[in-house]
Amino acid sequence: MTLRDVGFFLRGRLNRGVTRLLNARRSVTAPADPAPLDEVLRGDGAPLALARLVEGRSNPEREAAMAAYLTAHGMDFARHGFATFEGRGENFSVDLGTGDRVLVLIAHHDAVPGSPGANDNAAAVGILLHLLGRLGPRVPSRLRVRVLFTAAEELGYLGARAYVRDTSLAGIVGVLSLELCGIGDSLTVWDAGDDSAFLRHVTGAFDGLGLRRDDGYHVVGRIPVFGSDHRAFAAAGIAAYGLTMVPSQEAEALRRFVLSPARSAFRHLVRRPPPFDTYHTSRDGLATLEAPALQRTALALEALVDELG
Ligand SMILES: [Zn+2]
Repeated sequence: MTLRDVGFFLRGRLNRGVTRLLNARRSVTAPADPAPLDEVLRGDGAPLALARLVEGRSNPEREAAMAAYLTAHGMDFARHGFATFEGRGENFSVDLGTGDRVLVLIAHHDAVPGSPGANDNAAAVGILLHLLGRLGPRVPSRLRVRVLFTAAEELGYLGARAYVRDTSLAGIVGVLSLELCGIGDSLTVWDAGDDSAFLRHVTGAFDGLGLRRDDGYHVVGRIPVFGSDHRAFAAAGIAAYGLTMVPSQEAEALRRFVLSPARSAFRHLVRRPPPFDTYHTSRDGLATLEAPALQRTALALEALVDELG
């Protein structure tokens, strides 16, 4: 146990406390029942339909649903279990392609207890499961795409930290962690303060889709308070960023919200701009997700895979 681990542990606990407070002070509507598992396993492969695999379930159920899906679809997947004083869980990964340059795409499968966890982070799970069914044949020969579904992100990205500690990072050229990709129309790459070859590939792919910088997509520096799985890889010296969809009409309010946490924390208990109005609350349900947001993220990632070829 290092001092850093203790810091993560305390922050995780604090997060839960704040979440409980947020949920308590709002009228809590009864959440919809989660989709029957066999229905999702048999259903179509659109990102929004696949988000139903984990949405509305408890964390143990979410983890079990991930394994059930990958097994039912005959995926050759790796399981990485971990247990520390902070918590336990299981990460799942699938490698597509056989190249020695590795792109890692991450979606955490856990959620904050008390939240259905639709935009955070069932949407991202749905997007990456959708890509698993499509990317295989189009991964360029020199590339390998590692799709990683982590556990315990909500405990200070514990699953990703355990993964980085326990597995080989050889060949990784870049990492994107998908967070809140189910609402909005503008892609945002964050924690991207420093230029890198990988970041130029990401923006090159977005440019190639006809998206304009500061409009169709945004690149922002380190974001205080919010963090995600990519930071475990960044700590190991790898180019690693968060990827989030935001409503473009909220861009300015979001900038103020995420970049001034001390001021925001209390003022925004009253009014937080979308998509943070449902973030970590009991209202983060499937009905709030926008199919085009998930589709657009999936398209952008396909373009990135082409770009890296
Ligand atoms: Zn998240």
